[in-house]
Amino acid sequence: GCKTSADVIKAIRSEAVDMVDVRMTDMLGAWQHISYPAKFFEQDQIDEGLGFDGSSLRGFKEINQSDMLLMPDPTTAFIDPFLSRKTLVMIADVKDPVTGELYNRDPRGVAKKARDYLKSTGIGDTAYFGPEAEFFVFDDVRYGTGQHFAHFEVDSAEGHWNTNRDEGPNLGYKIRAKEGYFPCPPTDTLMDLRSEMALEMIKIGLTVECQHHEVATGGQCEIDMKFDELLAMADHQMKYKYVVKQTARKFGKTATFMPKPLFGDNGSGMHCHQSIWKGKTPLFADSAGYAGLSDMCRWYIGGLLKHAGAILAFAAPTTNSYRRLVPGYEAPVNLAWSLRNRSAACRIPMYSDSPKAKRVEFRCPDPSANPYYAFSAMLMAGLDGIKNKIEPGDPIDKNIYDLPPEEAALIKTVPGSLADALIELENDHEFLLEGDVFTPDLIETYIAYKRANELDPIRLRPHPHEFFMYYDC
Ligand code: GLN
Ligand code: MG
Ligand code: MG
Ligand code: MG
Repeated sequence: GCKTSADVIKAIRSEAVDMVDVRMTDMLGAWQHISYPAKFFEQDQIDEGLGFDGSSLRGFKEINQSDMLLMPDPTTAFIDPFLSRKTLVMIADVKDPVTGELYNRDPRGVAKKARDYLKSTGIGDTAYFGPEAEFFVFDDVRYGTGQHFAHFEVDSAEGHWNTNRDEGPNLGYKIRAKEGYFPCPPTDTLMDLRSEMALEMIKIGLTVECQHHEVATGGQCEIDMKFDELLAMADHQMKYKYVVKQTARKFGKTATFMPKPLFGDNGSGMHCHQSIWKGKTPLFADSAGYAGLSDMCRWYIGGLLKHAGAILAFAAPTTNSYRRLVPGYEAPVNLAWSLRNRSAACRIPMYSDSPKAKRVEFRCPDPSANPYYAFSAMLMAGLDGIKNKIEPGDPIDKNIYDLPPEEAALIKTVPGSLADALIELENDHEFLLEGDVFTPDLIETYIAYKRANELDPIRLRPHPHEFFMYYDC
């Protein structure tokens, strides 16, 4: 573990590193990178920053102000286990060389400001996040075109199907729809691949708690990391996705974090467990409260539920996200809270009574999110809830999917589309601007980018299924 730029240089020389690779996260949550031969890499480059063209990145600077600096963070250094030459990777912040400040749209900079804002409120000093990202593994790259999925209908007579194996008369050990959680091999064909992923994650410094097949048929997986402080956890989440995709590729498969690749089966979520601590004291526990939760935690939940629409513009940020947030697939639709209840947006896990384990699980996010923005937006909403003592209403301990329509109608729901989530963000973002964590420039740029580059291309394009429904109209 490196602490300073000097440590990094020492490690580069003593471990015979060939290349140094510097990575940053763009607005949409993808890693971008640039590499330097280690032989000529100097400590100054870490301390003073490395220039790059900020205008070519999605959602970044205009061409006339494109010079930007990457500021590698020595504490993030790891050796990339997938590259053929020994390569030390560092995650970087983005700095504006003219103002000398962190660039306001840099996702990692936003997460740093969110972390600092929490301290400045005096409410607590650390926000912990535990994301549970799910993903699908498919057999080969052609699945990435979506053509295999676009026309798929669940055949109830047949009862099940599997994209991951050839359809033929012998369907040995095939997982039926929604029955992937969690039979042993040989039914679970991805055990070895997930172990491989988990062990590579550990090699680069992540703490993996478990791995398992998920509910959806053939190929849905989950690997869980131990919770960590907001910024570190967002870095971990980036490494996590990298390892999942690289390992799948190494074994001739592809992995996707798109939230709903399969019609008629569970999608992939990224439930986020959250709690606030002061020093060694967890602040979300109070044995007298409902589900053992403190007032502070209840208000945090109030903030999450109140601002859920705006949060989801970042935490469920793709048009595909809203195909997951529908009834019947363990994804939340209702903005309610409850203990143990997987149909509520906020679930209170009841596995343990220990104050340390008290937390809220917000189930709406999915792994297409940029974790820096998503975690920051959730924390800001929760803090707004605490500051303003926002009550989340009565908990709903029933299966919300089964409520009588009169009762269900009283519960607010998640936005029905990315278009709606962006409108909610447009109308409700004061809470994000506290402490300059998010800036109006970032929010406006983000909304405009999403509308022009993601909403319109879907909205304007005839859908394959429209031909099925309307060709003969
Ligand atoms: N895949 C479900 C979702 O979309 C969650 C399933 C689970 O972890 N119980 O959120
Ligand atoms: Mg889980
Ligand atoms: Mg899961
Ligand atoms: Mg969960």
